[in-house]
Amino acid sequence: MRIEMLGSAAGGGFPQWNCNCRNCHSLRAGTVRGKSRTQAQMAVSDDGRTWFLLNASPDLRLQIERTPALQPRHGVRDSPISGVLLTSADIDQVAGLLSLRELQPLRVYCTPSLRQILREDNSAFGMLNRISEQVCWTDIKPGERFPLLNPAAEDSGLGCEVFSIAEHYPAYVSPERVAALARDEALMGVMLTASSGGRLAYLPAVPEVDDRLLTLLESADLLLFDGTFWSDDELIRIQGCGATAREMGHIPIAGADGSLRRLAGLRRPRKIFVHVNNTNPMLDESGPEYGQVQAAGWEVAEDGWQLNL
Ligand SMILES: [Zn+2]
Repeated sequence: MRIEMLGSAAGGGFPQWNCNCRNCHSLRAGTVRGKSRTQAQMAVSDDGRTWFLLNASPDLRLQIERTPALQPRHGVRDSPISGVLLTSADIDQVAGLLSLRELQPLRVYCTPSLRQILREDNSAFGMLNRISEQVCWTDIKPGERFPLLNPAAEDSGLGCEVFSIAEHYPAYVSPERVAALARDEALMGVMLTASSGGRLAYLPAVPEVDDRLLTLLESADLLLFDGTFWSDDELIRIQGCGATAREMGHIPIAGADGSLRRLAGLRRPRKIFVHVNNTNPMLDESGPEYGQVQAAGWEVAEDGWQLNL
């Protein structure tokens, strides 16, 4: 399996357009040892020809133009991108679908609840179905295993399993709609299995780690895990108000119940933090937090990384 890490930041990217926090300010000023990042986006392929996007970032058009494997090869209209797998309805995970509206056949995998939010409540996504040979919406359920198929229903070689991570829908979904949706279809984790047997776990948002999840992650060869916030009160300290990391659906990295400690026992997977918020101090590669995650055996994802399984 080939994995293209097109974007590694949380929503807003790094730097974020309206943010003047220490990280964003010093990156713009060129006074920090760190790298800019676009909003989280992965692309995966078993054969190097048929590609699937894991979510659809607002930065998707730029990310495709930076990545030769994802660019057209034949004729006037063409794309090696066969489909998109959505893990949540968050804006930074679905907005990029609107950049894929140019009448290209695509398969979009998501839970029935996510499909209802996008197709029934948000009419802009109707642009994905202007003609019959455009987006084929394919329902997936937590706990289900299925092959990733191209729009012509041919097997790509990648097997997929999704599992429910949390019951929280985005703030733009009305309370009335939330009440009618399945609670276990809000936020999914993904386990992909290549024809080689290699297993990739992708979890850009995880509020808590329980023992069931730990067991599942130990079966992965590569873990791309929620690295959004360093500490639970990170945004409150920087902005003077706001929500905790956990209230926003992200387990912090540091602290007694943070992900570094909770996942310290994992032996099998290579461990990489993704979806890193611009306020996270580990983005400063000279700082103690960056050193601490490296000493614990973790890497901090960067745009443009290419991984193989
Ligand atoms: Zn910032």
